[in-house]
Amino acid sequence: MQHLISKLDSAAFPPNTPSVVDCRQFLSEYSDAVILHFEGLMDKPENRYARTRKINAKLVKLERQIFLGGYERAFLLFMDSCCFCKDCTGDRETCNQPRMARPAPEAMTVDVYTTVRQFGFNINVRTEYDQKMDRYAFLMVA
Ligand SMILES: [Zn+2]
Repeated sequence: MQHLISKLDSAAFPPNTPSVVDCRQFLSEYSDAVILHFEGLMDKPENRYARTRKINAKLVKLERQIFLGGYERAFLLFMDSCCFCKDCTGDRETCNQPRMARPAPEAMTVDVYTTVRQFGFNINVRTEYDQKMDRYAFLMVA
């Protein structure tokens, strides 16, 4: 597992994501995850990044609390790309926030639409900015 987690260190940076095989193995090692649903209206598309950055920073704190609570494998899949760097290099070696970076579920081969619908959550493709967005993060627990 530790080996896989270190491989996942680069997972926040497509195209440097793990292989499909590694993603499947990672996901198969968890039996419990928390689905976190974020709804929101976005009046301007450029506001999306500030909002995502704020939420992802809180999610990293949540992951840490769960870890400290005894779930040493707690690992978060962000609700969107991490957005911490204004212009991320896309490379873990040179990213300004490598300790904060986590992959989006899609980067880990998670089919977000099918997964959340299985648990009764709403998710639809939005075509206009006046439509409510549904974003999902996954906190892999144990
Ligand atoms: Zn970065």
